[in-house]
Amino acid sequence: MAKNIEGELPEPPTKPLDSDCCGNGCTPCVYDIYDEEVAQWQKFCEMSGEERAAALNTTNKITSVASNSLSLTHYTSLTITDIKRITEDTVLYRFALPPNTSLNMCVGQHLVLRARNHDGTMVSRQYTPISKLDQVNYFEVIIKLYPSGAMSQHISQWNVGSRAEWKGPFGSFLYQPNKFERIAMLACGTGIAPMVQVIRQVVENENDDTRIHLVYGCRTQHDILMKDFLDECRQYWNFSVLYALSNTSPQEVLADKGTLKYQDNVHYGRITFDLVTSEMPPPSLAASNFVLICGTKSFDKDMINCVLKLGYAKCHYFKF
Ligand SMILES: Cc1cc2nc3c(=O)[nH]c(=O)nc-3n(C[C@H](O)[C@H](O)[C@H](O)COP(=O)(O)OP(=O)(O)OC[C@H]3O[C@@H](n4cnc5c(N)ncnc54)[C@H](O)[C@@H]3O)c2cc1C
Repeated sequence: MAKNIEGELPEPPTKPLDSDCCGNGCTPCVYDIYDEEVAQWQKFCEMSGEERAAALNTTNKITSVASNSLSLTHYTSLTITDIKRITEDTVLYRFALPPNTSLNMCVGQHLVLRARNHDGTMVSRQYTPISKLDQVNYFEVIIKLYPSGAMSQHISQWNVGSRAEWKGPFGSFLYQPNKFERIAMLACGTGIAPMVQVIRQVVENENDDTRIHLVYGCRTQHDILMKDFLDECRQYWNFSVLYALSNTSPQEVLADKGTLKYQDNVHYGRITFDLVTSEMPPPSLAASNFVLICGTKSFDKDMINCVLKLGYAKCHYFKF
């Protein structure tokens, strides 16, 4: 609820922007949270002055205990403490959290970032942290910057010390260890971010026997994100990765010193239906398998079509 001066009625909650909603049917969705806030606000407005003062006292106490992580309802302004360019168009940003706190979010969840345009209107977009979910004192996101992207234009102005407003976490994907024998991941570009969270969760749990096979689409070897992390994960028996490089050739990769190593598994070309068919278990085994998809809108659409054409059902995949 917005700041209240005793005796005065608070401002009504701010309605989410359409872009606050990722469209994935999160529970709760930003709109559910808004409805809840409106109901609370209406209840508060109907109270007597005394009741309002007592309710505020309780709310302030609860807020000070819960200030560990971000809020689902309010944006929190956080400071950027580090910026690293990873590829030509993708940058890693580190944000400071209040001391000794972590994001306290679940695998596969995302945050919402908000910025104010020059004309006073707001823009918001979703981003998925790639740092460990229990990482204390900070979190990191990797963001692809689009020259004409509405949020990208704000982000490209950020420097160390700049502040940005975040809320969350949101997202309805719930990972359960050993629920499936195999998880096939189809990702491109920054779509690796939610996959990183799931991979980390699986390989760091020695009681989780889920096998993960990632098919990761990038233009060239220089566009592969989180390569060091993926290399580390290859040491685990239950993780494998195939890099699908759409805009380079074996000769170029050999001639051009990059992140690829001789033992890396590489396909030269886009992720097509034939590649998906060869990399995924047949539909007869679909019940014990699950597919995770994350990339651009057109990539997601193509991958969903491939998976359905292969014979998997809607309940066998999740698009972040
Ligand atoms: C759950 C979730 C998690 C995400 N996590 C991440 C993450 O970790 N990292 C990350 O980088 N991104 C992530 N995204 C994507 C992110 O939310 C933004 O969509 C992305 O950063 C682009 O935002 P933008 O405002 O800069 O660009 P936008 O203004 O949305 O535009 C994006 C691109 O589309 C083009 N475009 C815009 N409008 C049109 C149009 N009308 N016709 C044709 N082209 C157009 C722009 O030129 C630009 O190239 C995630 C998205 C979701 C839903």
